[in-house]
Amino acid sequence: MSTQDRTAIVTGAARGIGAAVAKRLADDGYRVAVLDLDESACKDTVSAIEAAGGKALSVGADVSDEQSVTAAVEKVVAELGEPTVLINNAGITRDNLLFKMTVDDWDAVMNVHLRGAFLMTRAVQRYMVDAKFGRIVNLSSTSALGNRGQVNYSAAKAGMQGFTKTLAIELGKFGVTANAIAPGFIATEMTAATAERVGASFEDYKKAAASQIPVARVGEPEDIAHTASFLASEGAGFVSGQVIYVAGGPKD
Ligand code: NAP
Repeated sequence: MSTQDRTAIVTGAARGIGAAVAKRLADDGYRVAVLDLDESACKDTVSAIEAAGGKALSVGADVSDEQSVTAAVEKVVAELGEPTVLINNAGITRDNLLFKMTVDDWDAVMNVHLRGAFLMTRAVQRYMVDAKFGRIVNLSSTSALGNRGQVNYSAAKAGMQGFTKTLAIELGKFGVTANAIAPGFIATEMTAATAERVGASFEDYKKAAASQIPVARVGEPEDIAHTASFLASEGAGFVSGQVIYVAGGPKD
């Protein structure tokens, strides 16, 4: 089966890393479901894919809500085809030092990253098992190794790694691989918001980050899209349960 016959779902694909991954997978030949909280926010990503000759569908869903996920996956199956590639990318930050962190901020981050990836993967896995082919790519982070002010986010991103390894063990015999990408600093609205929170201009914040990165630049969403493209490919079928740090240098 060629990529032309395959459907991929990318969550949090209205912008940032998810949008770049969605566009790249469409370039690779997949039909791509562009899923984000607000369906209308997916329009730019879908239009860009269609303008380049690809096929895409906007899907509005909250990955942390079970009913919303069920309805979203049903819509993808009906309008685009049974999904066999899933990129669990949707994410949020609610940074604070532990002593100031609220229970709501802890729960919100856990719910989008961990509950979201769990619900999406559980809803999609049966199409992969039926097809005897599947590729699951989960977005972790270098923050999984610990990051001041991110006790919730780092715990969620470390959790994504354990989740990934267990998926690899359970689903491998059905032709399904699961891997995690752990990005370092990537220039997106998420890191722009962090710059604003610490009172720095985004340009200064990126410069400071780049000075600590061995390849001497910050990452771009396309850096992650390239890695996701590899992990989703047919030829990557013997790579499973891995965490790939895409951070411009060694991180683990
Ligand atoms: P971003 O620009 O903030 O984009 C995240 C997208 O996810 C947004 O469109 C957001 O929608 C969507 N989203 C949030 N909650 C959702 C939910 N419950 N259901 C569906 N969609 C939801 O972030 P990014 O920088 O591209 O990050 C993408 C992923 O990479 C995240 O998992 C992030 O943790 C991870 N990551 C990023 C970096 C980095 O440096 N940027 C580094 C390591 C890991 P709204 O706009 O409506 O909120």
